[in-house]
Amino acid sequence: MRLILLGPPGAGKGTQAKRLEDLHGLKQLATGDMLRAEIASGSKLGKRVEGVLASGELVSDDTMIEMIAHRISSPDCEKGFILDGFPRTVAQAEALDEMLTEHKRSLDSVILMEVNEDELLDRVAKRAIEDGGARTDSDEATAKHRMDVYKKQTAPIIPYYKNQETLQTVDGMRSIEDVAIQIDAILGL
Ligand code: ADP
Repeated sequence: MRLILLGPPGAGKGTQAKRLEDLHGLKQLATGDMLRAEIASGSKLGKRVEGVLASGELVSDDTMIEMIAHRISSPDCEKGFILDGFPRTVAQAEALDEMLTEHKRSLDSVILMEVNEDELLDRVAKRAIEDGGARTDSDEATAKHRMDVYKKQTAPIIPYYKNQETLQTVDGMRSIEDVAIQIDAILGL
């Protein structure tokens, strides 16, 4: 099964993706985590993207498309994958479609986690405290900026998937368990 979890920063994509990975063996591909791992390892790519992440802006489409193209063709993704944090622009969504077509594959589902923006900023602030400052992009101003970037650059992919009739919506303001139930129902799990 191949799916995308979509939603603004703090919507709970990572929590749900992890759960689907643990319970159903789908590989979680969290682009934010991949980028932070690159930064932590001090790789060339990590050095190049460090400032971008700290500013809350997006890493270039080319970089991200290459990263994902490489990952989804790996053996551990053969059974399926959950994209968490990709695509984040229409160009990335289009590139993903091309990659899948090339591999004669398609997406099973795109799940949009709908949330209330004010509560999200509270969640992000709370997560920042829990993380003990592990992320460089969770101060209030940068978190707000990431929300604006989401609205401007990522939200346009919602109509893109609506047109393809692959988009389904869950209420992301419910408890983790309730959101999980909604997702499982969509996926028939
Ligand atoms: P959140 O879910 O809180 O928005 P992520 O961990 O998914 O955060 O991403 C953190 C940062 O990594 C983003 O703000 C962005 O700079 C970068 N990033 C992650 N995925 C992508 C992507 N697909 N395209 C561009 N930049 C990305």
